[in-house]
Amino acid sequence: MAVTLETPLSRVLGPKTATGMAEQLGLHTVRHLLRHYPRRYARRGEQADLADVQVGDRVTVLAQVRSVTTRPMRNRRGSLTEVVVGDGSGRMKLVFFNHRHASLAVNSWGMFAGTVGEYRGEKQFAHPDMHLLDASDDDTDWARALVPIYPASKDVSSWVIQKSVKLLLGAGGGLGELVEDPLPEEIRARLGLLPLASALLDIHRPTTTEDVERAAHRLKWDEALVLQLTLAARRRAAALEPGTARPRRAGGLLDAVDTALPFALTEGQREVGEELAAELDRDQPMHRLLQGEVGSGKTVVALRAMAQVVDAGGQAALLAPTEVLAAQHARGIRALLGPLGRAGELDGDAAGTRVTLLTGSLKAAAKRQALAEVADGSAGIVIGTHALLQEGVDFADLGLVVVDEQHRFGVEQRDALRAKGSRPPHVLVMTATPIPRTVAMTVYGDLEISTLRQLPSGRGGVTSSVVPVVEKPGWLDRAWERLREEVAAGRQAYVVCPRIGDVTGADDEPEDADGAPPDDDGRSDRRPPLAVLDVAEALRGGPLAGLRLDVLHGRMSPDEKDGVMRAFAAGETDVLVATTVVEVGVDVPNATVMVVMDADRFGVSQLHQLRGRVARGKHAGLCLLVTEAPSGSPTGQRLAAVASTSDGFELARLDLETRREGDVLGAAQSGRRSGIRLLSLLADEELIAQARAEATALLGTDRGLADHPGLAAEVAALASDERAEWLEKA
Ligand code: ADP
Ligand code: MG
Repeated sequence: MAVTLETPLSRVLGPKTATGMAEQLGLHTVRHLLRHYPRRYARRGEQADLADVQVGDRVTVLAQVRSVTTRPMRNRRGSLTEVVVGDGSGRMKLVFFNHRHASLAVNSWGMFAGTVGEYRGEKQFAHPDMHLLDASDDDTDWARALVPIYPASKDVSSWVIQKSVKLLLGAGGGLGELVEDPLPEEIRARLGLLPLASALLDIHRPTTTEDVERAAHRLKWDEALVLQLTLAARRRAAALEPGTARPRRAGGLLDAVDTALPFALTEGQREVGEELAAELDRDQPMHRLLQGEVGSGKTVVALRAMAQVVDAGGQAALLAPTEVLAAQHARGIRALLGPLGRAGELDGDAAGTRVTLLTGSLKAAAKRQALAEVADGSAGIVIGTHALLQEGVDFADLGLVVVDEQHRFGVEQRDALRAKGSRPPHVLVMTATPIPRTVAMTVYGDLEISTLRQLPSGRGGVTSSVVPVVEKPGWLDRAWERLREEVAAGRQAYVVCPRIGDVTGADDEPEDADGAPPDDDGRSDRRPPLAVLDVAEALRGGPLAGLRLDVLHGRMSPDEKDGVMRAFAAGETDVLVATTVVEVGVDVPNATVMVVMDADRFGVSQLHQLRGRVARGKHAGLCLLVTEAPSGSPTGQRLAAVASTSDGFELARLDLETRREGDVLGAAQSGRRSGIRLLSLLADEELIAQARAEATALLGTDRGLADHPGLAAEVAALASDERAEWLEKA
């Protein structure tokens, strides 16, 4: 049987192994298994694995048996065997009930896998899976210095993967026959990269750590190049799509907006505005990402682009991640346009258009009217939430799609809205989460990028501090005092909690776990996070007694939320105790204080976003990050870093360091989907940039990759994995 990269694993491995690999690890073909690289390499006697494992982790360790004792159990029939294993750095206990382990001789080596538990303060494995490396095994692999430890699963252990890979590496005429090197020889030679077969051999069965490094470098190139080729092809395809030019027209809505604006545009807003105006004027659809710090004034840039499209006879849609935000955008834009936003109404200006809000919570009649306005084109500006994406929302002539706070949406949603144009509309996506260059080149590799660096002048800026309540209990009292002082001076405040809190007993989940980091101090005994309802009550009856206090959270009806936001925006409320629903885009310039309770439960970017709610006017803002985490702990240090800088780019980098990359990329863009396994967006910036240049050059001379069938196959494989994931999700 000829084995190729596309051969199903079920044809080369036992059925149980193949099924486990497919179902638990997503490995279906020989290609997948060969690209399933070890997570790390164990080295007998000198690794630090046991010292590092945490209770609750599922781990595989290589260790030596130190002692074996079997005794009858005290309260039950049967016996208990305790085996102490150790490596250079730590010890762990394995316990077995009624088990005979003749082979577990002192000094023998084995691999042990299981979930780390704890008993009387000692880490232990109960009934671990194991594979002993005794001499009778006659497996010379174990004599190797480096033992690969693979990402494994319940039914497919690291050593089963190791054996299966070994089988493949030795299959047929050997690896050289199996894998054809997709990388053009010219590139490989120029960059001094290993041939693919050697790299695969070395990554799975290395002798030295240098082997691993050289192999990984080569394999990262495959990932980077294939990804960049995919993106370059997408950019190219997008550039060939026929769009509709929406040229600027004098004397229309855009001019009216410019006249109505209560402030002068910043230089950055003007420059980006010119860029957008020129692109909208082309019959190739624009695909642009606008990134800009929280408060840099992206909305007005988007509004001006929307106005230009309306002036040219088209419609513009603005997609917002929450109802609160959609309603706020609609309110702000209607206020700015005045009669020009009410065309068709009694007091409207016939030369204008309609601003239509479309959200899931609209009542049937209102929804019908909104849909009709969208369909007949009288709504030039349509603002909405996910409801915009639904079937039945048909535009007369969709010319521009604006996606606000892109990090809350996936590419699918962007595409779903895009598909509502009869011809591909122009697309502008906006994000306040600054994107490191490498992420921009990968995740957003099919978009052009504009950046607003400058904040409108006259902003007070935000000062942030950490309030470590365990070490400095007095500081929390001081925090509430500061809040009262601000309110006394006519300002307003937010108090943010991770959880809504409970009336029914049913919902104890954090409202928005998005970006919340794992507990990086390894504590497993944490109390539940503080809740809006509890905190509001405690504040009302305590430190904030007498202030006008209200709550806002995701369990309220959209009308209630909108009412609360309006009252807060109108200054009728002093303090808003809320969940992260205030995170995104909420704009109340008079709010100057934000107290974040249990700040450690939020991610770095999320805190930065939250804090952006309080520096939006001329007054200086204050953000207090309240936490029980000790200041020396990783969590404490993370919070200190957030407090010490307001540079979003630096924080994005920190975020990338402290969170798993998959989280940063967003579920939709992580892992298999992007083909990224070894590549680190943080550490491999240079390599990614080089790969992008090589990819662009390759496609420039060989558009369909006809001269590079190996690369074309890799690109196709990535696309089909991508499709497979779509299918799984659908
Ligand atoms: P973001 O970029 O975070 O979405 P917004 O668009 O909500 O920021 O703008 C933040 C605030 O700044 C709003 O109140 C907006 O009206 C105001 N703003 C925008 N541009 C300017 C400007 N050029 N000068 C002064 N204020 C501005
Ligand atoms: Mg915004």
